[in-house]
Formats: sequence, C-alpha cells, structure tokens
Amino acid sequence: MKHNFGAGPCILPQEVFKQAAQAVLDFNDGLSILEISHRTTEFEAVVAEADKLVKELLNVPSGYSVLFLQGGASLQFAMVPMNLLGDGQTASYLDTGVWATKALKEAKFIGNVNVVASSKDANYTFIPKDFEIPADSAYFHYTSNNTIYGTELFEVPKTDIPVVCDMSSDIMSRVIDVSKFDLIYAGAQKNVGPAGLTIAIVKNEVLGKIDRKIPSMLNYQSHIDNDSMYNTPPVFSIYVALLNLRWLKSKGGVAEIEKENKQKAEALYREIDRNSLFKGTCAVEDRSRMNICFVMENPELEKPFLKYAEEQGIVGIKGHRSVGGFRASMYNALPITSVHALIDAMQSFEEKQAK
Ligand code: PLP
Repeated sequence: MKHNFGAGPCILPQEVFKQAAQAVLDFNDGLSILEISHRTTEFEAVVAEADKLVKELLNVPSGYSVLFLQGGASLQFAMVPMNLLGDGQTASYLDTGVWATKALKEAKFIGNVNVVASSKDANYTFIPKDFEIPADSAYFHYTSNNTIYGTELFEVPKTDIPVVCDMSSDIMSRVIDVSKFDLIYAGAQKNVGPAGLTIAIVKNEVLGKIDRKIPSMLNYQSHIDNDSMYNTPPVFSIYVALLNLRWLKSKGGVAEIEKENKQKAEALYREIDRNSLFKGTCAVEDRSRMNICFVMENPELEKPFLKYAEEQGIVGIKGHRSVGGFRASMYNALPITSVHALIDAMQSFEEKQAK
C-alpha cells in the first residue's frame, strides 16, 4: 500500500473508490451512474442526500443554501464579486497566498479591491493578524487554508460586513461556525469528492442586494432556484462526494475527523521540530493541519530523502515549486498509520546520516 501525501486532486478513502467503481458498472438496475438521467428520482435522491449531509456535517443553520456547482474554486473567484460587489463598491481581501491573489485579481475585473494585508514579502510564511477591514466594504474575503504554503487561519476575522471564505483545502476537516460566514466555497477535490464539483454555502439574504444583471450560470440565485440542477450537474462527482460524506458521517462526523487531523498534524510537526535534519517553513501559530511544509537544514539531502521515502512507499511529499522542500498533505482520508510511516522514515534517515 502506498502512503499518499499528494495535495490532490481527490484523495479519498479506498472504500469510497471501490463503491464509486461499482456504481460506474451498476448504480441502479444494471445502469451506470454515468448514464442515468440527472432528472430521475434516483439521482434527485442523491442530490437531496448530499445536500442533507453537507448541512448536517457542518451544522449549517437555516437560511443558507448548499449548492453543487462546476468551474472549480477558480470560477468562484469571479462569481463572488459578480454577485456581491455592486458598481462603485469596494471589496476587502486578505492576501495569504497564490489562491488569495488569484481571487482578488478576478474581483478587480468587477469592482474595486482593497487588500487589507499581505504576507507576500515573506513568501506567505505567516498569516497577517494586524489589519483593519473598512466598515463600508461590500464584503471581506479570505482563504482559510493556504494549500501551497501550509498556513491555516483557524479564527474567523471579526467584522460586521459579510464574510466570504475560500475553504477549498480545509472544508470538512474541522468544525466551523457557518453562521459567521455569508458565503463559503470550495473546490470539492480535497476533502469532499472528485474534481469537477464545487460546493458553495450561501446565506440567502446576502444575495439580490446589487443591481448588476448576472448571466444565469454565474448567478447563485439560478442555482438555488433550481436545486443545483439549472443545467446538467457533474453527476458522478456529486455521487462520489455523497459516498465520501456518508463515510465521514460513519466516522463520527467532522468533530471526530478533526480530532484525528489534530493528532496527525501534531505528530508530524513534533518530528519536524525534533529531527535535526528538518525544519518547518511557517510561523508556528499559523501551521496548517492539512498541508505541512518543511525543508531540510542541508538542501543537498532533500533528493536523497525523497528517494528514501519513496522506497518506503511514501509518495506525493515533494514541495510545491514556490516553496521547495516537502509538503505532506494530510487530508481526511490519509490514515494516521501513513503519518507514522513518514515519521519512521524521517527518523531512520536521521540515524543513517549519523553513522
Ligand atoms: N483555492 C485553494 C485554497 C486551493 O487549494 C485551490 C486548488 O488547489 C484553488 C482555490 C483552486 O481550485 P480549482 O482548481 O478548483 O479552481
């Protein structure tokens, strides 16, 4: 068995992959999930259950809609300002990495953007804490987990204006208070399901406040009015997401998986801090539980360690090109035994070096 620390897309439990494979062959009465009409009662039941499970697992209060969309988180970068940023208004953004930068770049096509703070000069190794959000902003946008740099924002910044969050890489990994947000979106492919599906959780009352005419596919209201079936939905991705949400529920839900995710991250950070060969790249208080970035004190040892780890079945730990070193992505599906395998490899490599 491989220990897959890849950043995605779509790291899901083996049992979910098996059920998904079976549904491709026979979902209902000999028909594949890929060929049944999305207008059948069977598929409507899939969407209804997925909707119910997202609401249940995240404890979504009434007054919010869960949407199953396409276009990835990247389309949300544009859809958010199109729906929430009126002519002449300004939106505030916290710049904590490449994805946050891309989000605000798209918003600039629609209206004015105010960057409240940025850690770009420090290659995004920390999350800025000292900033003010102007009270007349249309909304405040931030990225809760910075997949590339390995930082995570656990507290929702305090403000009275609508809060929008890109949760692509930490949604369903820890308990959140949805009532603090007006719009949450996430490309599904880390902790929810396969690429091709995007989840949005929208507070209904935040919509309809601006005058812009919005093309139907880009208008949250069209998707709300049509129960996420305005057009042909990504049928397979939604079904696999449902299987994964069922798996998460069977594990005890988000609070239980959060406990596991904490244990996994604490164990690996402990080893990074103890091991004389390795060091973390981010501010300790901002360390992500999902993407753990680290380098070696001696960069010349990085290639040999990568090869050594591969020999132990550990794959996907090469760091993103903008950070270098290593990135261990530890999404919900990664078992703690894989984390122990990586820790063992780091320890035995250290012993080998000492000889
Ligand atoms: N936001 C974050 C935090 C991400 O990690 C990613 C992709 O990894 C994206 C946005 C872009 O998502 P997509 O590829 O679904 O557009």
